[in-house]
Amino acid sequence: MTTPLVEMDGDEMTRILWKMIKDELLLPYIDLKTEYYDLGLEYRNETNDQVTLDSAEATKKYGVAVKCATITPNAARVEEYHLKEMWKSPNGTIRAALDGTVFRAPILIKGIVPYVNNWSKPITIARHAYGDVYKNVEIKVPGAGKAELVFTGADGTEIRETIHEFKGSGILQGIHNTDESITSFAKACFNYALDTKQDLWFATKDTISKKYDHNFKDIFQEIYEEEYKEKFEAAGIEYFYTLIDDAVARVIRSEGGFIWACKNYDGDVMSDMVATAYGDLSMMTSVLVSPSGVYEYEAAHGTVQRHYYKHLKGEETSTNSIATIFAWTGALRKRGELDGIKELQDFADKLERACIKTVEDGKMTKSLSMISTCKTPVILNSLEFIQAIRATFDKSE
Ligand code: NAP
Ligand code: MG
Repeated sequence: MTTPLVEMDGDEMTRILWKMIKDELLLPYIDLKTEYYDLGLEYRNETNDQVTLDSAEATKKYGVAVKCATITPNAARVEEYHLKEMWKSPNGTIRAALDGTVFRAPILIKGIVPYVNNWSKPITIARHAYGDVYKNVEIKVPGAGKAELVFTGADGTEIRETIHEFKGSGILQGIHNTDESITSFAKACFNYALDTKQDLWFATKDTISKKYDHNFKDIFQEIYEEEYKEKFEAAGIEYFYTLIDDAVARVIRSEGGFIWACKNYDGDVMSDMVATAYGDLSMMTSVLVSPSGVYEYEAAHGTVQRHYYKHLKGEETSTNSIATIFAWTGALRKRGELDGIKELQDFADKLERACIKTVEDGKMTKSLSMISTCKTPVILNSLEFIQAIRATFDKSE
């Protein structure tokens, strides 16, 4: 390796897996170079969360990061870890610093059959991560009265629309988005489609939301025509826009193998549906891509707290490390691409194949055995599973 990866360590069971993965699957095989940031909650608290900001800055500098799952503190965690403050979600902080879009894709393995049986390729969901209902303003209307939507321009000009003349009590909600954020989202999606050579689908409810949703559609279309049409044609991929309800029906009938760009709420809901339909959350990968082409790889699942508490009590755990291993391979492959190191890309490919083959050969963790069609699975503990992957890796070409 020539350039280091930004390594963001994390919490609980995934922190235990992190070390096992490095010791068993990475350090014995590659000259691993990383710049290490400890995003474990204790150190975030010690540094007043400065370490999270520093890790995001380092990601901008080097271009590629790999992140372990981290605790997003709530009231219970504040007590458990004696926190000075309820620190913000590290993922939220990093996403804001990189202005990124999150792409989630399932890892497909023979024997773990999607509930939708024509899905033979992964569907990647790209979720817009700013605005709409997630930054809403709401009013519980107490009784009769007039609700208006008012915009006051910086120069004082006013735009005013009546929302509703209430005859009795009701509810109101104001939402917004910005052209800047939608543009970043669109570019991240077009770039990622080119990067992974997959078609890009996008859908909104523009027939009903003639200004709000239509604006998303128009921005995507304009950027596509101005900057990406030729590149897409050269790569043999397509940009496809349709209505959200039509998209949902088509997704179910499809064989997969494309990126589905979703508005914030659609992405929230659809990513859970798609993940569950493919098998389970422990097989979902996640990558944050900034419009400037910076990448941060991680697993979609959390720190697997329940398993960690068992581990602390000295009980055996059978935690699936595949999505965390794929975070490493994703980051190493990208580093290899950027620095022109073919061996690093080959290593990442080979390690991913070893993960898949190990499970296809019947060796797996407990949660995988519950959704696998394998009749006689060998259930391994967390470390044994990683060692089984290592054995497969050593035996493979
Ligand atoms: P979680 O860690 O994803 O785990 C929820 C449950 O899913 C687990 O209890 C386990 O079920 C199963 N599971 C998830 N990953 C698994 C794996 N690799 N192998 C086997 N089973 C797996 O979600 P959570 O318990 O709601 O959250 C725990 C902590 O993670 C929270 O503090 C949250 O803030 C944080 N979190 C972080 C991220 C991130 O950093 N990206 C994302 C989500 C949550 P069983 O217990 O039934 O076996
Ligand atoms: Mg959700």
